[in-house]
Amino acid sequence: MPLDHDIRAALTAGEFELHYQPLVDLRTGTFSSVEALLRWPRWAGEISDVIDVAEQSDLILDLGAWVLERALAEPGRWHGCETPAPPFVVCVNVSTRQLVRPGFVTEVARLLAATGTEPAQLGLEITETALADPVEPVVAALTELRELGVQSCIDDFGTGHASLTYLAKFPVDVVKIDSSFVVGLGRDAASEVIVRSVIDMAHALQMTVVAEGVETLGQLEFLLDAGCDVAQGFLFSRPVPRPVGTEIVANAVPWPVEFAGRHARPRGRQPLPAVAPSRRYRLMLDLARDVTGRLDLADVLSSSFVALRQLVHFTGGSIQLVEDARLRLAATDPPATPEALTASIPLGQGVGGQITTTGEPRYLPDITLAPEVSPGQRARSVSGGVRSYFGVPLITAGEVIGVLQIDSLEVDAFAEEDRVTVLAFTPILAAAVQNARLFARERTPYLLPLPRQDPET
Ligand code: C2E
Ligand code: CA
Ligand code: CA
Repeated sequence: MPLDHDIRAALTAGEFELHYQPLVDLRTGTFSSVEALLRWPRWAGEISDVIDVAEQSDLILDLGAWVLERALAEPGRWHGCETPAPPFVVCVNVSTRQLVRPGFVTEVARLLAATGTEPAQLGLEITETALADPVEPVVAALTELRELGVQSCIDDFGTGHASLTYLAKFPVDVVKIDSSFVVGLGRDAASEVIVRSVIDMAHALQMTVVAEGVETLGQLEFLLDAGCDVAQGFLFSRPVPRPVGTEIVANAVPWPVEFAGRHARPRGRQPLPAVAPSRRYRLMLDLARDVTGRLDLADVLSSSFVALRQLVHFTGGSIQLVEDARLRLAATDPPATPEALTASIPLGQGVGGQITTTGEPRYLPDITLAPEVSPGQRARSVSGGVRSYFGVPLITAGEVIGVLQIDSLEVDAFAEEDRVTVLAFTPILAAAVQNARLFARERTPYLLPLPRQDPET
């Protein structure tokens, strides 16, 4: 743990810095706020240890005042970048000691006026544990902040003991679901239930819900489906120095967020939000980084579909992998029929033949048999199946390891741009699949049972 004395000296010497992590508004896909996070470059440990030590004394008041002033006063104001309505919000963490100190709200008002910041451009985050007693001064300060027009947010929600009904007693506008629940999305049913119910109840209380610690596309997809309002996490951006942050916010590709509830989407092609090509490539790089960063095959496959859904519209898709010289379905979206899942075809055959040599592979039967397709359409389809298709072999080191197939109800389903996107995505997917397989193989020796030692006789 750092020493109180060293922290104070560092504050005086100007050694502290602020980094900023952009948050994405899931209704628009754009960055709508940033959270200011304290950094002490000389300190190799966790910043939360520094905060903990500072909170033991009035040191947190000085440190907190510095953070607030810095967050509002630094040059290169966020508000200067395209200022959409509603305003871009800078969120600052405040400790309860700061919050309940007499004069805190007056000081906030003074800083806002001095820096020409609208109250609605500031958000203050208070951890859930701060809602424990004494309650009155906290409620009083939050009420004053609301009257001033400053947003307040309950941070780390779910880690303390506050229930949402208890929360309703506090005049707060935003609830931040703790990252420990976000981690469990897609893995742990309890986390999923908690996240969904927090979102529903917070909405019933007219609060905005933020999910923090979003690291994967799968988690994002769950949150979109659950109706979460805002997301924060390494998937979108790490906390970065201010100049980097303003650049990220100004040049961001809007995250296509309307793919939630996609299974209910009316069929037919719907345009993705208009995104300039250069920005689209950036988005693709972000998605590629996420997909190739995974080391678990199931994760790679499911992340790939989420990534693809953000890049191109398709009604169905499958990833087929080579196993013992046969192709088998490894992942599909929407889910495949049971027959398709058990089917496998020898390499080089496929419905249209020559699956790996022409670069135009065919699909396994049935995955594409969508109930909504009429017999007429079925009869007209070249493939004898239902949908037209676009399949690309997955190749690593000259070896075909599988096929990525995208299906669409339209015969000429893909605009040139979409084709290029799918083609560009394929090597990324191939590399990620190969990585995950190698990793699994490398891990194997550690998973093998240790040789048994016969008890000495
Ligand atoms: P917090 O308020 O919950 O801040 C979010 C923390 O999660 C940050 O850690 C951030 O870097 C991290 N984070 C963001 N996205 C991800 C992600 O996708 N995955 C993972 N694994 N982590 C993610 P950081 O910066 O180390 O801050 C830790 C805590 O220290 C903060 O938690 C906050 O409670 C406290 N803190 C930081 N700056 C201040 C400050 O200026 N004042 C006060 N009072 N507390 C602060
Ligand atoms: Ca926070
Ligand atoms: Ca938090």
